[in-house]
Amino acid sequence: MSTTPRKVIIIGSGPAGHTAGIYAARANLKPLMFEGMTKGGIPGGQLMITNEVENYPGFPTKITGPDLMKAFRDQSIHQGVEVVTEDVVKVDMSKRPFKVTASGLDGESDHYAETLIIATGAQAKWLGLPSEKALQNYGVSACAVCDGAFFKNQDVMVIGGGDTAMEESMYLSGICRSVTLVHRREEFRASKAMQDRVLKNPKVKVLYNTIIEEILDVSKQQVTGARVKNMKTNESTVVPITGFFVAIGHTPNTDLFTGALDLHDNGYIKVKPGTTQTSQVGVYACGDVQDFTFRQAVTAAGSGCMAALEAERWLAMNH
Ligand code: NDP
Repeated sequence: MSTTPRKVIIIGSGPAGHTAGIYAARANLKPLMFEGMTKGGIPGGQLMITNEVENYPGFPTKITGPDLMKAFRDQSIHQGVEVVTEDVVKVDMSKRPFKVTASGLDGESDHYAETLIIATGAQAKWLGLPSEKALQNYGVSACAVCDGAFFKNQDVMVIGGGDTAMEESMYLSGICRSVTLVHRREEFRASKAMQDRVLKNPKVKVLYNTIIEEILDVSKQQVTGARVKNMKTNESTVVPITGFFVAIGHTPNTDLFTGALDLHDNGYIKVKPGTTQTSQVGVYACGDVQDFTFRQAVTAAGSGCMAALEAERWLAMNH
């Protein structure tokens, strides 16, 4: 524990956190990063549960999510980021310097910082079926933009009735042979404009009032179909598919900041448009914790760079 405030503490270790770290370290801000252990998500973020990444620039063929995150982390450490494998359990922004309480194997410790960079990310919501978990990365995905290309000219299924499900269905319809969109109710939650686009798309077939019973086939370690049940008729059928996309929403990891920072109604951190500045001066948010639109590794990394540059400028102006 040290009571001397750091210039910057970074919370989170996905593409946003590490990019912020690399920029902050190169600006000689000697950043301290809490990468998390298990409670607040996974160190390395959502890429750690992504098998293959083909859309992160700089890797002409492909790279696995964990390998990409290892490269991010190695680069951070090489540039001088102090990476600590602990969970942040409390943040006090009521006075300066800000106090960050972390919890590790040796108990809790307090740390102080003049600026904070929040990069705690978001987590996809899952249906919670055992077969869904078993087939993650074997045909089950929560990101069409990340994984859609692996299902070119194949039949896929999208679950959900919100804007994300509409967007994922439209995106996949441009790549796949067919998209079966499965929604548990009679009406979509999505905006009218997005619904209309989907309903007009001849490649998308909608199954309303339908739930997923099981994704097949765990014994083959690949997706071959989904057993669905119509809740009105109680009839179960198997739809043959090779890709299963869950699009039932994301949960931003913002529990630590509720009450201290302005959040959108959906729980994401509010930032001033075109910046990473939160409602608290000297606190910056980057990556998926403040982005419910793009949610890409490359956009997260870009906003991590912005956060570090903004923190650096604020420190230069105020010290
Ligand atoms: P939403 O919460 O809006 O929608 C989630 C959908 O998933 C709902 O239709 C819900 O069903 C369904 N669902 C939730 N849990 C389950 C479950 N266990 N089983 C089956 N279905 C389930 O999340 P989105 O990610 O779609 O959108 C989040 C926010 O981001 C929204 O504000 C949205 O407008 C915005 N957004 C905007 C976009 C744009 O403007 N381009 C693109 C994407 C998102 P039910 O309706 O029955 O509750």
